Amino acid sequence: MQTRFDPDRLGDPDVRESEQILRKCVHCGFCTATCPTYVLLGDELDSPRGRIYLIKDMLEHGRPATAEVVRHIDRCLSCLACMTTCPSGVHYQHLIDHARVHVERTYRRPLRERLLRAALAAVLPYPKRFAAVLAAGIAARPVLARLPGRAGRAAALLPRFRPTSSAAAAAQRRASAPRRRPRVAVLAGCVESVLAPRIHAAALRLLDAAGAEPLSVSGCCGALVHHLGRERQNRALATRLIDALYADIERGRIDAIVSHASGCGTHVKDYRYLFRSESKLAPAAAAVAERTRDISELLVELGLPERPQPMGIDVAYHSACSMQHGQKVHAQPRALLERAGFKVSDIAEGHLCCGSAGTYNLLQPEIAEKLRDRKLANIERTGAAVVATGNIGCIVQLKSASPRPVVHTVELLDWAYGGPRPDALR
Ligand code: SF4
Ligand code: SF4
Repeated sequence: MQTRFDPDRLGDPDVRESEQILRKCVHCGFCTATCPTYVLLGDELDSPRGRIYLIKDMLEHGRPATAEVVRHIDRCLSCLACMTTCPSGVHYQHLIDHARVHVERTYRRPLRERLLRAALAAVLPYPKRFAAVLAAGIAARPVLARLPGRAGRAAALLPRFRPTSSAAAAAQRRASAPRRRPRVAVLAGCVESVLAPRIHAAALRLLDAAGAEPLSVSGCCGALVHHLGRERQNRALATRLIDALYADIERGRIDAIVSHASGCGTHVKDYRYLFRSESKLAPAAAAVAERTRDISELLVELGLPERPQPMGIDVAYHSACSMQHGQKVHAQPRALLERAGFKVSDIAEGHLCCGSAGTYNLLQPEIAEKLRDRKLANIERTGAAVVATGNIGCIVQLKSASPRPVVHTVELLDWAYGGPRPDALR
């Protein structure tokens, strides 16, 4: 793609990077076939190619974002299916991230939008605040569910009961037991630590069973606010996590870092890029990114024994977008489930997003629900009894309308190797 950026504008490293990305696009349109919003809406401006044109036009001239550009950028799920499809290696992830920051800086959203986005950014990355809001939401569910619009739709995403944190606490105690190698920092995350602390507990037990020494690390990685274009908050949260992890890396206390929420894993693995221009933080960010893996990647490396007895349960494996497109992790979760004795089915249209996408299901509920229902219809066709996935966002999204249990892959693996049966299967 030809670009005509003003040389002055190319002095900004983010603009320069985006210009390089734009120049790789050859307008072939292959990406449109796998873009969920184009598949649903059929509008070129809701395809990767259409968005790339809009972003080019906005960045090239340094223009403030317009309402039309914002509408199409907001509808992008950041699922990154287009990056998997693109034959020219267009790094759409960094381009849309830059565009979202530009939108936040130059566009004034309507008041309701501003309030909603500010509330999400003020609550979700902070487990104590989120736990309080969640408890209030569960108590008010009967009222919320009757409300029209977003509030009513958001009520469907609430868990039935207030999640307990006792399992996580027990696992934390276990994590501080006498040391064995390799030592693995396990990210507890923010939203997941409140909504489903059992996943972190299962991950710690499983790593222990696989011969590692897990060390629980709390703190938000910044991914959720990053998707909202709130760069300063993203950097502040990421810096705090990097400082904590790098101190342990320098002291030789950890050999690897593990994420069990693929949305977070994708973001942490990209820290090197995020902090590339900050000479002080760049080495620490790169060291953290280099050592970070999805838990399924590390479990395959550590090696879990093959279970001779089948578990007698058919599992439909839903590969989260951040897992398959963001981290290119495909075979490992499936292989681990099969090794643990589960029969695993693939889901048709597996490349399409389920509509979760960070806070997307709260901000774009109509599109998110259509994608969820399409995913659930494809899951139905597998005939599987259980759905497994590696991202808390997908679990919440699918669970809101799924007739079958939706669990994290590590919950099933933990159960197969001696942990408790997942709550959802009781
Ligand atoms: S990230 Fe997903 S929704 Fe956005 S343009 Fe690419 S394929 Fe489409
Ligand atoms: S597939 Fe790649 S090169 Fe082709 S239009 Fe999409 S982003 Fe551009």
